Amino acid sequence: MHPGTCKYFTGLAQQTCQQGIAYRTLGPGGIPCVPVPGRDEAARQELCALLTCPTPEERQRDQEEESRAIKDWIIEAQARTARGACVHCGTIMTATRQIGRCIYAEPCGCRLGQGTLRDATGKKVSSLPVTGGTDA
Ligand SMILES: [Zn+2]
Repeated sequence: MHPGTCKYFTGLAQQTCQQGIAYRTLGPGGIPCVPVPGRDEAARQELCALLTCPTPEERQRDQEEESRAIKDWIIEAQARTARGACVHCGTIMTATRQIGRCIYAEPCGCRLGQGTLRDATGKKVSSLPVTGGTDA
């Protein structure tokens, strides 16, 4: 949650905020839901009476939740990697495959990232078996 962004803002791809206010009815000069230079919170409040920015405590709580979620994801990704599983979906990998500039997991097909697949001798290869995977 950005410090100056209204708590009810749903993004510009949406038509209304969480309070049901249609963005096209707000203005002039752009929506007041996000901070812009030269328009303070009071000026933004004149354009939308429901404008509610998060308190420092709410921002702190959000940051703590994000940090916890990231830490949990890293722990899970390390566990999947350790057991030969795809880091994205957890499927035990049988091989990795080079397609263009990217490396994909098999059999799930998840994109593992950009890079060059090389065997133990350093030679470029189009596919590399993954052995030792375990469902445990
Ligand atoms: Zn996968």
